[in-house]
Amino acid sequence: MNIDDHAEELASDLGVDKAEVKENLQNLVEYSVPVEEAKRSLRRKFGDESGGGSSGPTAENIVDVGPDSGNVTVTAKVLTAGKRSIRYQGDDHVIGEGELADETGKISYTAWEDFGLEPGDTVTIGNASVREYEGNPELNFGESSTVSKAEDLDVPYDVGGDRDLADLSPGDRGRNVEVRVTEVETRTIDGRDGETEILSGVLGDESARLPFTDWDPHSEIEEGASVRLEDVYVREFRGVPSVNVSEFSTVTALDEPVEVGGPTRMAIREAVERGGAYDVELVGNVIEVRDGSGLIQRCPECGRVVQKGQCRQHGDVEGEDDLRVKAILDDGTDTVTVILDRELTEEVYGGDIEDARQQARDAMDQTVVAETIAEKLVGSEYTVRGHLSVDDYGANLETLEFRESADDPAERAQAFLAEVEA
Ligand SMILES: [Zn+2]
Repeated sequence: MNIDDHAEELASDLGVDKAEVKENLQNLVEYSVPVEEAKRSLRRKFGDESGGGSSGPTAENIVDVGPDSGNVTVTAKVLTAGKRSIRYQGDDHVIGEGELADETGKISYTAWEDFGLEPGDTVTIGNASVREYEGNPELNFGESSTVSKAEDLDVPYDVGGDRDLADLSPGDRGRNVEVRVTEVETRTIDGRDGETEILSGVLGDESARLPFTDWDPHSEIEEGASVRLEDVYVREFRGVPSVNVSEFSTVTALDEPVEVGGPTRMAIREAVERGGAYDVELVGNVIEVRDGSGLIQRCPECGRVVQKGQCRQHGDVEGEDDLRVKAILDDGTDTVTVILDRELTEEVYGGDIEDARQQARDAMDQTVVAETIAEKLVGSEYTVRGHLSVDDYGANLETLEFRESADDPAERAQAFLAEVEA
């Protein structure tokens, strides 16, 4: 059934004008409200008390709120309160978002109107709806909801959005971080209002480093600056969490410099289960050098690897020589495909692209280059630093550093002990 059919059915059930029903239904569906839930709420709005089996809002504990809860009333403490601008039907609209909690649990929310929520407030929200957002239930409330102050609740969660970078995950909103800007560049993008300048780069604290985007460039964000960022939200970008700074974020320069730690040592399984990790250090054995390693050819137009003179996008092309390695690293918990660029490949190969061409010419076969690399890598243990991302085909690491682990077991044991005792 399409929207029109749903509207037709509802209008005849309720005995009201179809155009009006359809407009309401379209609004809700554009807000990503599931169509069955949208219909239930319209039945209520247009006064069908039978409501398709659902009754009016019921007071719920947050732990019991799920995507099938229909409309609910909850009393909860505001943990975080962020603001964001979205474009809806051609107009900019400011929405509030963050987390709420009661004694039983916590839940994300989106407020479609400004209810003036502040972290620490305890409120009763009447007639809120529940939808699924990134796999979790999320409370939505707006003009048909009521928000009133309630008696203070004691909740087992921290109030306020302060977090370390390592604790941020995609979907977080209203977060505050204290960080050093380790890299930043100005970029021009084709945004919703035409060409716009944004900032992008990398932030670090002692716990981690993460990429960031500032959609409304703040002058305090410059290379080397230590800043407190309030009201940022977190999105996934190329498989890792990314910090988003907006027009509603506040940026304050800090007097004390923020210390930035090294890469986070992680087991491969942990990084994969997180759905990706920025700037991590993995230690494992290379068990295989995959096809497409060694001397390869790339399309001059798009940089894709060319096979038998064919680019997937540009067809017949004159490929340009390049060197790379795709090696499978196994640390006993899981595997990841480690990708080395030309520079790192030259180091492990022990020669440059001209040497590789010469070796291929002598053998009349370019796969000898990958074979040479495999002989050097396979079976040895490596310490690898880079950005891990996960897609449908598995986990890949964009490698920044690649070095053979200390091969003296006594030395390794000492290094391990030093780390544990630190
Ligand atoms: Zn191409």
